[in-house]
Amino acid sequence: MPNLPLSPIRTGGRSVRFFDQHLDVDGLSFNIRRSDRRKTLQITVERSGELVILAPPEATESELVEFVQEKLLWVHTKLEEKARLQRRAPVKEFVDGEGFLYLGKSYRLRLVDRQLVDLTLKNGRFCLRTASVHRGREVFISWYIRKAQAWFEKQTLQHSNRMDVNINEVKVQDLGFRWGSFGSEGRVSFHWKAALLPPRIAQYIIIHELAHAHHPDHSAKFWIKVEQHLPDWRARKEWLAENGMQVEGL
Ligand SMILES: [Zn+2]
Repeated sequence: MPNLPLSPIRTGGRSVRFFDQHLDVDGLSFNIRRSDRRKTLQITVERSGELVILAPPEATESELVEFVQEKLLWVHTKLEEKARLQRRAPVKEFVDGEGFLYLGKSYRLRLVDRQLVDLTLKNGRFCLRTASVHRGREVFISWYIRKAQAWFEKQTLQHSNRMDVNINEVKVQDLGFRWGSFGSEGRVSFHWKAALLPPRIAQYIIIHELAHAHHPDHSAKFWIKVEQHLPDWRARKEWLAENGMQVEGL
């Protein structure tokens, strides 16, 4: 019975409500994910803004509440930071001179009357057919998907050999708030927006997903695996957290 309050608790004047799968504190809603593998409590702020408490199975309600209260300032800081980064994301216009990213480089747009295809990248310029401007976003997304498919397939196969992972399918699509996902039977997916990132950052996403073939969670063992193949993963991960949102303005 999710979404049914189990026990209303009042502590220190804060409003706390407990549900089967989530906990509301001070107007913030935390999803609770319990796992046998966890030994300690942890709060994460997902890219979507979702707040998650990772907890060992035996953690009690009052332990969870206490932990959240200790971390409230940190959570608010994280959420503000996220909002700030999102505000920075520019909204693209399909006009001459607008810059569009591909593999970390910005290319200016030129509208052209005569062109057989909707969009090309040549001589350092994106050329968009004037007749296609009204569906510019759609045209760019399908261009990115096509380019990213080839790029990610090649890169993923190279890294999967080094990391001893069997890959059956590489798919590029809209993954919402995730950069990548690793599914069963060696199916790996990437968000088309990853084609806008610098190659070294996109490589971090690939290695991250491939490491999930060995460890499905984000445990210490998982990060050791990532580090074996990408010693400077930390800097790349930070870059992505700080700058990744900027590619979302399309
Ligand atoms: Zn992951």
